[in-house]
Parts: sequence; C-alpha cells; structure tokens
Amino acid sequence: MGRLGSILLFLPYFPRSKHIHLFMAPINLAFRQEVPGALLPLDLEKEEEKFGAEKLEDLSWKRLLDAYACIMCNRCQEACPAYTTGKALSPAAILISERYELNGILQDFAQGKESPRPLMDFALNEEALWACTTCMACVEVCPVGNEPMLHILDVRRAKVLMEGEFPQELNNAFRGMERSGNPWGLGQDKRLDWAEGSTSPPWRRSPTPRSSTGWGAPQATIPGPRGSPAAWWRS
Ligand code: SF4
Ligand code: SF4
Repeated sequence: MGRLGSILLFLPYFPRSKHIHLFMAPINLAFRQEVPGALLPLDLEKEEEKFGAEKLEDLSWKRLLDAYACIMCNRCQEACPAYTTGKALSPAAILISERYELNGILQDFAQGKESPRPLMDFALNEEALWACTTCMACVEVCPVGNEPMLHILDVRRAKVLMEGEFPQELNNAFRGMERSGNPWGLGQDKRLDWAEGSTSPPWRRSPTPRSSTGWGAPQATIPGPRGSPAAWWRS
C-alpha cells in the first residue's frame, strides 16, 4: 500500500513534468511510422484544405505525442548539423517548447479551444525554420521515436502554402519544380545526361522505400560537369 500510495501521490504531477515520458515514450514508439521521417502526403486538389501547421492544433496527434514523449536527452540537438554549425535551430528545443506551451493551456486545449499564439512565436524562429537541411539525423538518433524534423516541415508547409512566405533564394527552385519537376528547371530529356560516358548502369533499384518510383538516382547529390545538377528523381 505504501508504494501504491506514493505512485498515486505523484500521478497529478506527471502530466506537467518531464517524467510523463515514462508513459508516453513507449506509446510513441508503438505508433512510430513504418518509414520514420516520411512526410504526410498533401492533397493540393482538396478545397478548403489547410496545409501544414501554424498553431499547435494544426499538428497531428502524433506530433503532440512527440512533445510529451521527449526525454530531453538532447541527442537530436547534438546530431543536428544546423545546430552544430551555430544556427538558431535546436530540434530538442522545438519539442520541449511545444510541451511547455501545451502544459500552460492544457485544459482549454483539451476542450478544443484555439491556442493563443502561433508556433513561430515560441517553438521556432525564422532562422531556425529555414536552417533545417532535412538530413533526418534528429529522427534517426531519437531513442523514443520522435520526428523533430517533421515539426519543422509542418511549419514550413504552412509558411509556403498558406502564407506564401519563403526565402527569396527558393524562388528559382520552386519555379523549376513547378515547370520541370526538378529544382534547376532542366528538361526531362536531360534527365540521364549525367550518366553519359559512364560504364556503370545509370540507375539502380533503390534500397529504401523512400523513392516514389522505386528507382532511385539520388536527388541533388551527384554533381555534374562544372558543378551543374546532374540527377534527380521524379516520375
Ligand atoms: S533534419 Fe533538420 S533538425 Fe533534424 S538534424 Fe537534420 S538539420 Fe537538424
Ligand atoms: S533525441 Fe528525442 S528524446 Fe532526445 S531530446 Fe531529441 S526529441 Fe527529445
């Protein structure tokens, strides 16, 4: 009874403490995506669709679970190339900030009331938002199956698709993707130019299920002549 009494005594404290991960981390791991880091597909044809996340209520239940499963070990931060090169981005800080914010509004939030401020006011700032290289390191090192990268990409989606706000440097890349299906705006007929003169087969079966086509020449990773882009995938 003594032990049970101690546990019951601490129960009201758990939801607001970092020890909530004792409950949430196993649940989070159980609901981990089959392909960690995979983005939810967008249906751009759907009317009145809201894309990405501006506020906490726009995040999926899994993203909110991430915030409560985090054990604050900072492994993701240490593995993050943006953080280690001095950028304002810390994947751990995003999740912890979301959790603190949720703790402050928990009752209203559970009743379906709108949260008071956007994620950009407390979880991210402009520099952090665009500093992520989508390298997936934070997803791969997280011991409880969190996907901090997807929190960032949800906010990016809202910025780009709902507000039309993105760094000027991306203008050309977006135009290229819209018109030609690749960020450089190169014609599809030039798709295999990079393999010219090579004795190896120009493509191979992708070892991962990430390629939508199943065939994977790595995207944006093979430099062509004079530094020009040489390969991308998209059917
Ligand atoms: S995906 Fe983004 S946040 Fe995660 S480690 Fe890479 S750069 Fe950092
Ligand atoms: S690695 Fe996972 S558990 Fe550790 S701080 Fe980052 S998100 Fe939290």
